[in-house]
Amino acid sequence: MRAPFSDPPLDAFLLDPLFFILGIYIAITLFVLGRGVFCGWLCPFGALQELSNKAVVLLRVPQFRVPRAVQEKLWAVKYLAAVAILGVGLYSIDMANQLEEIEPFKTAINVYFLRELPFVLYAVALLAAGLFIERFYCRFLCPLGGALAVAGRVPMFQWLKRRPQCGAQCRICEADCPVGAIDPSGHINMNECLQCLDCQVDYYDANKCPPLIARKKRKEARAQEGLSLQPQLAAVKADV
Ligand code: SF4
Ligand code: SF4
Repeated sequence: MRAPFSDPPLDAFLLDPLFFILGIYIAITLFVLGRGVFCGWLCPFGALQELSNKAVVLLRVPQFRVPRAVQEKLWAVKYLAAVAILGVGLYSIDMANQLEEIEPFKTAINVYFLRELPFVLYAVALLAAGLFIERFYCRFLCPLGGALAVAGRVPMFQWLKRRPQCGAQCRICEADCPVGAIDPSGHINMNECLQCLDCQVDYYDANKCPPLIARKKRKEARAQEGLSLQPQLAAVKADV
């Protein structure tokens, strides 16, 4: 935030071109599609959590589903962390850097866990929590995720499809959403959605989504009806 006003402007970003290009890409996708493009598809620590969680799920390690009321309270932590870092950063970049250690990226991704023990233990503890609660860190603690959620609050395109039956009559997608971003009314909370697309797989699954199953059954019944009427039609034609 302070970079455009520094002298020379944007110098800090241009020293790291890849980061700069990535930043522009994230800014654009954030306003077009929301936070999930980065959090769900680009964040390396997110990928690490997801991979480790998938590995233990394959080993049948039981998963813990955070009760909705608790989850909604815990969501606030990441916003508070983002506000704290941004607020402190306006006063002192050094202090903000220290506060930023709430993010385990440096430990896990930049220096491959080769750091002082407390940092390593912290990053490992977050990954361990993610083994039982998918994307634990992204959902409840990540200040970057919180900041992106606020910045991309109203994405230009709402491309995740919902049906009128969602929530009212069917809660399959809600149960399948790995981060609890679908509320009991069937509405997707885009601040929390990581755009994993699991709910879209359900939405288009003709063997899982009840309205599609009903539609398929109606079609089959009509086809069956047509078949059963064929002998009578043939008889009528013969008479004529
Ligand atoms: S399975 Fe189909 S009807 Fe059920 S919540 Fe998902 S999209 Fe809606
Ligand atoms: S299941 Fe749907 S609502 Fe949940 S995170 Fe994935 S895309 Fe978002």
